[in-house]
Amino acid sequence: MMFTDLGLSEPLLRAVREQGYDSPTPIQAQAIPAVLEGGDLLAGAQTGTGKTAGFTLPLLQRLSATKPTRDARGRISIRALILTPTRELAAQVEESVRTYGKYLPLTSMVMFGGVGMQPQVDRLRKGVDILVATPGRLLDHHQQGTLDLSHVQVFVLDEADRMLDMGFIHDIKKVLAIVPAKKQSLLFSATFSDEIKALADRLLNQPALIEVARRNATAETIAQKVHPVGRDRKKELLAHLIKSGDWHQVLVFTRMKHGANRLAEYLNDHGITAMAIHGNKSQGARTKALADFKSGELQVLVATDIAARGIDIDQLPHVVNFEMPNVPEDYVHRIGRTGRAGASGEAISLVCLDEEIFVKDIERLIKRSIPREAVPGFEAPAGERAEPIVLGRMTIGIGGTRRGGGGGGGGGGGRPGARPPARHGASAPGRGAGPSSHGRPGGGGDGGGGGAGGGAGGGARRGGSRPPAKAARGSSR
Ligand code: AMP
Repeated sequence: MMFTDLGLSEPLLRAVREQGYDSPTPIQAQAIPAVLEGGDLLAGAQTGTGKTAGFTLPLLQRLSATKPTRDARGRISIRALILTPTRELAAQVEESVRTYGKYLPLTSMVMFGGVGMQPQVDRLRKGVDILVATPGRLLDHHQQGTLDLSHVQVFVLDEADRMLDMGFIHDIKKVLAIVPAKKQSLLFSATFSDEIKALADRLLNQPALIEVARRNATAETIAQKVHPVGRDRKKELLAHLIKSGDWHQVLVFTRMKHGANRLAEYLNDHGITAMAIHGNKSQGARTKALADFKSGELQVLVATDIAARGIDIDQLPHVVNFEMPNVPEDYVHRIGRTGRAGASGEAISLVCLDEEIFVKDIERLIKRSIPREAVPGFEAPAGERAEPIVLGRMTIGIGGTRRGGGGGGGGGGGRPGARPPARHGASAPGRGAGPSSHGRPGGGGDGGGGGAGGGAGGGARRGGSRPPAKAARGSSR
């Protein structure tokens, strides 16, 4: 199928052609005709599938087919509202609106928190057809009376599952109360928990249902590899891989904010341009880091899982797990940043003995084992043993999960059935024997993304940086 078969107008097809796309992705092939028909849509698709163009293109076409609406003062009023969970995603979606709408006489605006209100108020005053916003700032404007949503005809909820994960359900309900009841509504979500279904029931009227294959680690275009490495050699190994492989545009994941900062510093000290993005950075710093990374000026972007949400970079060639995520689903999200929309990519994991348990959980989730390849000279030294990992106030790893608060081994009441001692692969005789009794001090941790959730009880999730995944994550309707 080609884009020209979808009933899109010439100005849109021209903009699509300029992006170099001939054929629609599966979500686009299904969503575009459905949205053009004017009905509601419930779409199961995650980032990387081309979903943004899937709703942006038909939305632009529908708006361009009718005259702008104007408020009492004659200003163009908002006819389409797109809500996203994160600032980065909002910025990217609005960029897509501008990219695909460049030959249409429609105006758009992005609105999120962390930056001044007044420029947004000024922009609103000039009149906007399409508003892309995060919920908090949108409601701030509404409360202050600087925003009129009474003319909204099309409402898009993008990455609805992440919005709920991030605790936005009340904000979403408030937004629903201030947009007109009669409108076209589109809901995109990677997963369908009961909460999402309840939201869909409330929002959508006889929606068309579309679901495209969930991108997961079995995506053939992503080459995955584990490099077993000594605990203290990771930074050196990363610098070595980047330099010897002449890698550019490398997205590197750490678990904690401070770890991200330290790693970026190390790389810069070793002649590799790098910046860290995480929740403590100002919006300006995050935007600049992302822009520099996209333009190729910055070789490495170091990100925590939360900061990386919504980052969309075309055909990112390398994703590196500098630290393995303690939540297996995060691995799938992380490596989904490479090999996007058919491009090939490489996902490398630097795994020390402490993290072997994470790899096992990930392999169980993705139902395949990840090939291992030691890089000579960087392996764990003989005698290195697995140690528990401290996340915020919680210690996880060998011997179970427990709340921190002191040193000592990995005892505690967490996961029943201590795991066997971690070893790097099968071919590491004599290494990593016996559970560690070193225990790093609990309490301080690395701050940031950690948190003290989980803890006792031996639940399936070992604590982590965000609320528990919904039971239905990964399953479909
Ligand atoms: P999304 O899932 O909307 O975040 O899009 C993922 C990536 O796919 C973006 O970088 C888009 O530019 C790219 N993309 C969107 N549509 C297509 C297409 N039809 N062919 C190839 N790439 C596309």
